[in-house]
Amino acid sequence: APAILWFRKDLRLDDNPALHAAIEAGGPVIPVYIREPARLNIGPLGAAQAWWLHHSLAALQASLKSLGGDLILISGKAEDVLTDLARKTNAKTVFVNHAYERTLFDRGIAIELKKHDIAIRAFHGQLLHEPKSIRTGAGSAFKVFTPFWNALQKVGEPQEPTDAPTKIPSPEHLPPSENLDHWALLPKKPDWAVDFGRMWTPGEAGAQEKLRNFVDRELHDYRRGRDLPSVEATSLLSPHLAHGEVSAARIWHAVRGLPTRASEDIAHFRRELAWRDFCYNLLTEFPELHDRNWDDRFDGFKWEYDPKEFHAWTMGLTGYPIVDAGMRQLWRTGFMHNRIRMITASFLVKDLMIDWRKGERWFRDTLVDADPANNCANWQWVAGSGADASPFFRIFNPVLQGEKFDPDGDYVREHVPELARLDRKYVHKPFEAPEHVLEKAGIELGKTYPKPIVDHAFARDRALAAYRDIR
Ligand code: FAD
Repeated sequence: APAILWFRKDLRLDDNPALHAAIEAGGPVIPVYIREPARLNIGPLGAAQAWWLHHSLAALQASLKSLGGDLILISGKAEDVLTDLARKTNAKTVFVNHAYERTLFDRGIAIELKKHDIAIRAFHGQLLHEPKSIRTGAGSAFKVFTPFWNALQKVGEPQEPTDAPTKIPSPEHLPPSENLDHWALLPKKPDWAVDFGRMWTPGEAGAQEKLRNFVDRELHDYRRGRDLPSVEATSLLSPHLAHGEVSAARIWHAVRGLPTRASEDIAHFRRELAWRDFCYNLLTEFPELHDRNWDDRFDGFKWEYDPKEFHAWTMGLTGYPIVDAGMRQLWRTGFMHNRIRMITASFLVKDLMIDWRKGERWFRDTLVDADPANNCANWQWVAGSGADASPFFRIFNPVLQGEKFDPDGDYVREHVPELARLDRKYVHKPFEAPEHVLEKAGIELGKTYPKPIVDHAFARDRALAAYRDIR
């Protein structure tokens, strides 16, 4: 009998256990991608990821075609689409990989399908290890990363990856597909994604290339360089992982066998990769991670909201260069360096006292790697409301952070061109520069570049006072 293969967050042929099993089942395979209406954790799709998804689906469709298959695109509720597809093709089984952010929905969908005698077979391919397999001695989920990481290393290596198939058995006729262009996932005018294509190649081939580059340079300088935004030391694999274009297990194993001098960088990199597993672990434990404080003392926190300040933050016009550089990198490229994510998020939550959920939503809409577990867990980490969170009272000073991690101001100069000619000494604090220094750099504060929208010392005291109220 034919098998339906339902692609979701696993837009790849390499190391794809559901695809593998569907082929093993022996009949023809019917690959489908469903554009579902938004529900709790599934969507609405952010604008940057819609751009990505368009290109990723086109790439997957092309590679399936080259192996004798194809990808059918259908819009609708998953249970309706799958029932209808099964009826048209006589399929009795749907093969999927778990996407842990949607476990609850998937349960409902499985129940609906069962009423029509359609079975779902779900496989583990999203993370290094299935969330349930890493538990405390008492059998509960870990709430702190380090013991989680220790336990993860003890359960052994992630499963050995399987290669992509060389042929996709296809039925005589596939049911009709919708036209990807009609899904209108790409931005209309103005095309704010013009620069995305320079940095990213969505799809499996792009993912493999990023992985190859990273391995070829032997993860050089990862440990030190990963904190410096002007150095390209990290893998840039996050948007590919977010769409499942490469498996975490494939990445884990790919860094094996490098020379010993790389071993510290490898260990550190794998630890970061395990953060992703940890975030999913938190999400499966607490599916409202995007909406509710893990630490419910924060439910009483007195957030403020000034729409003008929020807007200035989103546009990179706060008057703090490191914050503005990050927000503009995000807008222009769909990505932001990890250290800078921490600084910009902290600025929103602690200097502007704006609810972390507003920041999480903005990132979700603008990041190409927006991820329901990583984004929410990290925002809560920064806000101090998370499980294993940075304490609220540790407040980043945006000037000192800038001077520490972007000492020459290269990152600021790249993303905030109006400060490009400013002396190194003032590049993170133009508001302290003497008039003649500003003049020489062609800067008129308040005109060509904003004055700080908030005084950091004042903001810090205000945030600490609000925190005392809930403590
Ligand atoms: P590398 O350093 O090469 O790391 C490899 C992989 O490890 C990453 O691709 C990612 O999958 C994982 N990883 C690394 N750091 C973390 C982390 N702190 N938490 C979870 N996984 C991690 N990451 C996302 O993938 N999606 C998000 O939506 C997201 N939102 C974030 C929001 C905030 C406020 C903060 C502080 C961090 C967020 N991160 C998010 C984590 C991190 O910034 C990115 O994963 C990282 O910058 C991606 O770059 P890379 O692939 O080059 O990372």
